[in-house]
Amino acid sequence: MTRRAALVTALQRRISGLRQAGRRDVLDHPRIRALIRRLRAAPPSIGFPAAADGDFLAFAPLLGKLLNNVGDPMSGSLYPGHSKDFEREAVAYLAELFRARQPYAGYITSGGTEGTLHALHVARTRLPDAVVFRSQAAHYSVEKATRLLAMDGVVVGADAGGQMDYEDLARCAARHRDRPAIVVANVGTTMTEAVDDVGRVHAALDAAGVPARHVHADAALAGVPLAVFDGPRPAFDFTDGADSISISGHKFLGVPMPCGAVLTTCHRADRAPMIAYTAAPDSTLTGSRNGLAAVMIWTVLHHYGRRGLHQRAQQSRNLAEDTARRLRELGWPAWRHPLAMTVVLPQLPDAVAERWPLPTEDGWSHLICMPGVRPSTIDAFLGDLQAALSASTAHARHRTRGRRGNASPTATPGTATAVPTARIP
Ligand SMILES: *Cc1c(COP(=O)(O)O)cnc(C)c1O
Repeated sequence: MTRRAALVTALQRRISGLRQAGRRDVLDHPRIRALIRRLRAAPPSIGFPAAADGDFLAFAPLLGKLLNNVGDPMSGSLYPGHSKDFEREAVAYLAELFRARQPYAGYITSGGTEGTLHALHVARTRLPDAVVFRSQAAHYSVEKATRLLAMDGVVVGADAGGQMDYEDLARCAARHRDRPAIVVANVGTTMTEAVDDVGRVHAALDAAGVPARHVHADAALAGVPLAVFDGPRPAFDFTDGADSISISGHKFLGVPMPCGAVLTTCHRADRAPMIAYTAAPDSTLTGSRNGLAAVMIWTVLHHYGRRGLHQRAQQSRNLAEDTARRLRELGWPAWRHPLAMTVVLPQLPDAVAERWPLPTEDGWSHLICMPGVRPSTIDAFLGDLQAALSASTAHARHRTRGRRGNASPTATPGTATAVPTARIP
């Protein structure tokens, strides 16, 4: 190499090094550094259903380009930066897990909410003037979807464990038997992970004399773990009688950005209007769609496979069972549904809730042993609860001595309420 060529090469290296340094500088803002610090310092979450056992940093090379799966996933696209082949395969994988026997249509959504909205939209197209039945334990997005579609909604009761009251469904549906019924079954309710049985939903509609119907399974959290379970489980999939199923991708599958999937067996996506601008039918709720999420869902499904997904779910269930038992041993009445990763427990004392924020409704909280929750995290949580409880017992004893028995020995620290009695369904 001549001296001149060597100089040019050295100069080029230096420029490319500077460019890379410049790229690093993008994240070198105090606000971004503070955000990264805050995320790293955050204790592991046990209150919300996001699996945290995946390592998605390897996807970095895919961040260099916009991946946009605009329009129908079955079609191509004028825009070349898409991953619709991955999307179709991911949806096909889910269709097999959910035992779709008829032709199906499906796509990767922005989350469980879009999945339910799309499913109800498809159902309304097929059954105009239908009444939408949901249980009182349904996710808040179901009421919103019903309202957005300007449909009539009826709230059906649920039992103490969160499962739909099928007799109440039959009664409510009978009142509207002259109209088609759309029923949203919860496959893992938000608070207790209760699962509505689609077979019993159909039986209730039969009893009510409702002929035309669509059953949507809102399976945001529990759809995949139940689908891969190899023992008796509640009926919820296509072969069991569901007409559409939606899941979230950032819950059990652990994709590190909100996303999901929806599948229907009655949607003629190919009849959606063809859009010349994108060269794809407009069959999806949103136009531009997240192609990176499609690749990530595809990767998770293929990386684990049915067996690996089952193992992850079983580990979660075992940890949940163990946690519920240890809570009860501490005198904190906890319970779980047999196949759930969720443990339901009385609202925590304030001092513990501050460290371990758990969603709470009507005096009951839950924690979720998602894949990625470590046994050591549960140990730390139980240790904090135990410490708070013994402090409160000591405090109560002290007060009892001081005030000659005025204090209630069951009072929990920081909360006015005593431990609620367990309602184990
Ligand atoms: C999380 C959840 C949803 C909403 O899903 P997003 O992905 O947050 O939009 C809907 N239904 C149930 C039962 C859920 O658990």
